[in-house]
Amino acid sequence: MSTPPTQQESELEEQLDSALVTARRQLERAATHVDVDDGIIERLKHPTRVEQVSVPLERDDGSVDVFTGYRAQHDDVRGPYKGGLRYHPEVNADECIGLSMWMTWKCAVMDLPFGGGKGGISVNPKSLSEEETERLTRRFAEELRYVIGPTTDVPAPDMGTDAQTMAWFMDAYSMQQGKTIPSVVTGKPPVVGGSYGREEAPGRSTAIVARETVNYYGGDLEDTTVAVQGFGSVGANAARLLEEWDASVVAVSDVNGAICDPDGLDIGSIPTHEEKPEAVLEQDAPESLTNEEILELDVDVLIPAAVGNVITVDNADSISAEIVVEGANGPTTFAADTILQERGVRVIPDILANAGGVTVSYFEWLQDINRRKWSLGQVNEELEEKMLDAWEEIRTEVEAKDLSWRDAAYVVALSRIAEAKAKRGLWP
Ligand code: NAD
Repeated sequence: MSTPPTQQESELEEQLDSALVTARRQLERAATHVDVDDGIIERLKHPTRVEQVSVPLERDDGSVDVFTGYRAQHDDVRGPYKGGLRYHPEVNADECIGLSMWMTWKCAVMDLPFGGGKGGISVNPKSLSEEETERLTRRFAEELRYVIGPTTDVPAPDMGTDAQTMAWFMDAYSMQQGKTIPSVVTGKPPVVGGSYGREEAPGRSTAIVARETVNYYGGDLEDTTVAVQGFGSVGANAARLLEEWDASVVAVSDVNGAICDPDGLDIGSIPTHEEKPEAVLEQDAPESLTNEEILELDVDVLIPAAVGNVITVDNADSISAEIVVEGANGPTTFAADTILQERGVRVIPDILANAGGVTVSYFEWLQDINRRKWSLGQVNEELEEKMLDAWEEIRTEVEAKDLSWRDAAYVVALSRIAEAKAKRGLWP
């Protein structure tokens, strides 16, 4: 029998955690709970394709730089690859593969007809002018033209890219194809085929699963205190909705630190990162905290919604919340997750909690294909239904197999993918 890792070993392991290592570990762990053919698990450990391209850019001063771009396509047994394009200096092939695996599980857990993809360019977006970003994006679209498409692989915005980037990407692709094809990417501005409610969706889904989980464990949102790390797109939208639904949001933070009011903050009056970047500490509040302290606050629900790897072996024992809802991608390291599980903290995983984003991307794709726009009301209604269905499927596994919420989510995802693979078979 193997002995559990020491604290030092766990810390070392965490430092080595890459998206790919984590994604493979999670697959292996899920495989122990599901009766799936070993060959299928083996196939899922590897991406179908990883495209690497050189993207030349003429700078504003006339000089030329060449950047490296990637698109990892993990698995498309359930439909076209789907996932973001990020512009960040640390983008590399392994990270794209790991994150594309993550997207495979996320799409499957939401029962969307998509597989997982992820890509990007290794570049610091802050070092580019707007014109340079546009030229880089158009050339990247051209380099990827042969591996993406509305029925093959549908990118979306991610770190360092936004709705405008997607509009340029769609335009470049459409011009080369000789017709307007909005469904080649999602997360576009509504005026060129984007969906209403897309921006707010990951925060909305985070709030929905927080509400369902509180109710499931016998709580009532009216008596629930919440802390949200990261007051950006995900965190602010989740906090605003939870406040609207009568929860008491007692602390929020941005990159500079946190504010706290044990009687509940007036969330509606705090500008989001988009409205006024890094304005949280400018607000009147009885207490201010660090970003480490907000995670350990004595609240009912903790929503880490800023960056990855914030709950680690160093602080997992100090998390006081009974429920952690992962608004960010990968906020809990693999080792910390084990500690939280042992301590009985319920962790609602990112692949469910923030999946509102990819779900409304799916709605956007449907609207583009059908050339029929949905109202915001319809988007939110259908999102609510999809979230409740997914939450319910996972709850069933939690109860039936006595699993953590994360393991149960992976079991649901893996079962769907494995079943599709078994039915389609391996050819030749
Ligand atoms: P954002 O840029 O809108 O906001 C991020 C917020 O976190 C800001 O308030 C920023 O000040 C704060 N922040 C940054 N670094 C921090 C740090 N080290 N410690 C504490 N706070 C910090 O980002 P977002 O779109 O809300 O994304 C947040 C997380 O959610 C990311 O992990 C992202 O991958 C994930 N996510 C986003 C979406 C989406 O569509 N926006 C979808 C799914 C998952």
